[in-house]
Amino acid sequence: MAVERGVGKCKKSHSGSYGYPTRPDEPYAFCPLCGNGMVWSCSQCGRSLPEDSTELEAARFCMHCGAAYFENGDAEK
Ligand SMILES: [Zn+2]
Ligand SMILES: [Zn+2]
Repeated sequence: MAVERGVGKCKKSHSGSYGYPTRPDEPYAFCPLCGNGMVWSCSQCGRSLPEDSTELEAARFCMHCGAAYFENGDAEK
């Protein structure tokens, strides 16, 4: 069975990952830094977030379908 891995972020742009060495085996529900929910894939089309860490931190919308990753689409300060 292939190793599942992926990247995600919370709405404050704290990035996370799973399936990599030293990382959890599965996606986790909440950001350990701020307690907001983590997003691991687009809620509309189901595609994954960009794996590049700079792109991942900057991304607010899905690059495949344009859906906002977070409810208001804006980063919280
Ligand atoms: Zn966070
Ligand atoms: Zn999408």
